[in-house]
Amino acid sequence: MTQIYLRVALDTPLDTSFDYRWPAQEAGADKSALPQVGQLVALPFGRQEVVGLILEVVTETDVPQAKLRDVLAVRHELPPLNKEWLALCQFAAEYYQRPLGEVALPALPKNLKAIKTVSLQRAIKKLDKLPQQTDVSTNNEPVLNAEQQAAVDAVVQSQGFAPHLLFGVTGSGKTEVYLQTAARILAQSADAQVLILVPEINLTPQLEAHIRARFPGLMLSTLHSGMAEGERLLHWLAAHTGRARIVLGTRLAMLASLPKLKLLIVDEEHDPSYKQQEGLRYSARDLAVWRAWQLSIPVLLGSATPSLESWQGAQSNRYRLLELRERAVKLAVLPVIKLINLEREKPSEGLTQRLIASIKLRLEKGEQSLLFLNRRGYAPVLACDACGWISNCTRCTAHLVLHKGDHRLRCHHCGLEQRIPRSCPTCGNIDLQPLGRGTQRLEESLAAIFPEARVFRIDADSTRLKGSAAAAFERVHAGEVDILIGTQMVAKGHDFKHLTLVAALNPDAALFSQDYRASERLFAQLMQVAGRAGRAAQKEGGNLSEVLVQTRYPDHPLYHALMAHNYPDFAKDLLDERQQAHMPPFMYQALLRAEAKELETAIAFLKEAAICTEHQGIMINDPIPMTMTRVANVDRAQLLVESVSRPALQAFVKAWIADLRAMKSRVKWSVEIDPVDI
Ligand code: ADP
Ligand code: ZN
Ligand code: ZN
Repeated sequence: MTQIYLRVALDTPLDTSFDYRWPAQEAGADKSALPQVGQLVALPFGRQEVVGLILEVVTETDVPQAKLRDVLAVRHELPPLNKEWLALCQFAAEYYQRPLGEVALPALPKNLKAIKTVSLQRAIKKLDKLPQQTDVSTNNEPVLNAEQQAAVDAVVQSQGFAPHLLFGVTGSGKTEVYLQTAARILAQSADAQVLILVPEINLTPQLEAHIRARFPGLMLSTLHSGMAEGERLLHWLAAHTGRARIVLGTRLAMLASLPKLKLLIVDEEHDPSYKQQEGLRYSARDLAVWRAWQLSIPVLLGSATPSLESWQGAQSNRYRLLELRERAVKLAVLPVIKLINLEREKPSEGLTQRLIASIKLRLEKGEQSLLFLNRRGYAPVLACDACGWISNCTRCTAHLVLHKGDHRLRCHHCGLEQRIPRSCPTCGNIDLQPLGRGTQRLEESLAAIFPEARVFRIDADSTRLKGSAAAAFERVHAGEVDILIGTQMVAKGHDFKHLTLVAALNPDAALFSQDYRASERLFAQLMQVAGRAGRAAQKEGGNLSEVLVQTRYPDHPLYHALMAHNYPDFAKDLLDERQQAHMPPFMYQALLRAEAKELETAIAFLKEAAICTEHQGIMINDPIPMTMTRVANVDRAQLLVESVSRPALQAFVKAWIADLRAMKSRVKWSVEIDPVDI
C-alpha cells in the first residue's frame, strides 16, 4: 500500500508547512477513515504534542524518512474545514504577511486544539441533542418604510458579489434592515447561513435578544472573546456544522467556519474595533468584503458615519450606496445639537450652568441624561503645585491616573500601580492636587449637585466583572438611572429609550491630535453618542431631545458639520484633504514597528530596514519614535512605507520581511498592513 503523508499547518512563527507520516496501522481497512484536507490532527512537535491542520494529503515528501515522524491521531469526529475557509485563512495570511498556521489555528476554539478530545466529544454530543430547528418564520416584523424596503430589496435581489453600504442616521432602522434582509436570504435556501458582526461585546446581548425574539425557530450562535471555552466550542461547532443559521459576533467571528454562508452584515462598519491590534492585525470589515467576493454573495456594511474607505468606495461606485434619511420611529426626531462656548461660559467641575440646567429639566420630567467623557479614572494626573511634580509612570511615556476610590495611581498602559502618596515625593508638600477630570470625578461632582438623582457610571473600571456590563446596561434600560456617565462604551449602538439629553464634556483634544484619523473618529464618536438621544417618540409634555457639546472651538468646521448632521459634506472635505495630502484611502500603507530597550537601537534598526530592500514605486518615510514612545520599559519606533499601488506595496513588503528576517536583529519588530494608529 502507498505510504500517505500529511502536510500540516502548525501554530508557529515558521512560515512553512510540516510533513508527517500517516501510520499504516491507522490506515486499517476502513477507506472512509482516510485523512482529508481540512481535518485536524494531533502530532508530535519537538517534545510537545500539538494539533495541526491538514493542508495536503500526499504520497511523496522531500523530508528524509529518518526525520519523518508519525501523526498521533486524525480528528475524524470533526467534519473537515472546507476549502473556502482554508482559502480565507490563506488570503489573510498572505495579505497581512503572517504564516498560514498563525492565522488558521488561532482562529479555532482552544478546546478544539486540546490533545485530549473529551471536550470535543462532549460538545458534539450536546449539539446532537439540540433540536434541528429549521423554521425561518419571523415574529412581529414591523412594516418597513420605503427607504428601508428599497435597501432590503437591493441586497436580496443583487447577483453574485455585491457590496452595499447602508448609510443611515442613528435610529433610522438599520438593524431592522439587517434582520429583514437576513430573513429573506434565510428563506431562499433551506440551509443558508448569515453572519452579523457588531463592534462591541456589550452590544451582543441586546441584538441577540432581538434576533431570538424575531426568529424563534432558528438556531443562533454567538461568538466573542467574553465566552467560556466550552461555550465557545459549542457555538463554533454549531456554525461549522451548519446548524446555526445566524451567527452573531465580534471581529473574531469573521474567521469562523460557515460552510453555507450566504450573507455578511457588518454593523457600525467604521468602528476601529474591527481592527485587531495584535498578532494577526486584520480588519474584520475588509475580510468581510473579501469573503463576500470569494463566495459571490452580498455584503452589507452599515453606519451613520461610514469609514472614509467605505464612503470613497460608494462614491466611486465600487459599493452600492443605500440611504436611510430619517428616524424610523414616528415622532422620534433627530436631536438638536448645540455648542456651549467654554470661553464664554466658564465651567465649574467641568460643567457649565447651561448644562446643569438642562440636566435639571430632564430630572423634572423623569427623563435620562447621558454625559460622555472619554477618560476613565478620577483625574488623569496628580500634581504638586509647590514644586511641579506630576505623577508620571516610571515605565511609560504616560501619566499615572488617579483612582480615588481604591487609593491608587494606575498606569493605563502597563498596569503599574502605586498607593496615592501622602505627600509630594519630591518636596514633601502634603497638598497634592488632581489635575483634569475623569469619569469618577464627574460622578462625584454630579452626586453633589443632584443629591436626589440616581447617578450611574459605566466604564471599563465599573464593569470589570464578567456580566457586570450587561447588568449595568439593563439598569439603564429599566429606567433605574437618571444620569448616566460613560466613556465610549456607552456611545455605541444602545437603544436607550428614555434618554433625551446627551452632553459631551470636553471633546476638543482630538481636534489637534497628531493622528490624522482623529477628526474622522471624533466626528463618528460624537455622532454616535448624539444618536443615543431621542430614539423614542417624544412624550406628551416631555423635553425635546438635545445634544450639548462643550467646546473652546465653537467655530471648528467639525462641530458645524455635526450640528447640521451632515456627514456627507464632512466626509467630502476630509476626502479632498486626504487626496491632496496623498493619504489613505488614496494611498496604501504598511508600518514597521520596532521595540528595544533603548530608542536609538530601535531607530538604528529601522534605518537599516529602510535601505535593505529594493523599493521602486514605494515611498519610505523616516523612522520616528512612536507618539507614546515608552511602554513598560520598552522604547518603540516606527517606519511608514506607502504606495499608490496595493499590489506593489504587497510585493515589496513580502520581499522586505524576508530581508528583515535575514538581518537576524535582536530588535523585536512587526509589520502591519493598513495600519490605523500611526
Ligand atoms: P439604527 O440601527 O439605525 O440606529 P434601529 O434599527 O435601532 O436604528 O431602529 C431605531 C428604532 O426604530 C428601534 O426602536 C426600532 O425598533 C425602530 N424601527 C426600525 N424600523 C422600524 C419600522 N419600519 N417601523 C417602526 N419602527 C421601526
Ligand atoms: Zn512637590
Ligand atoms: Zn506604565
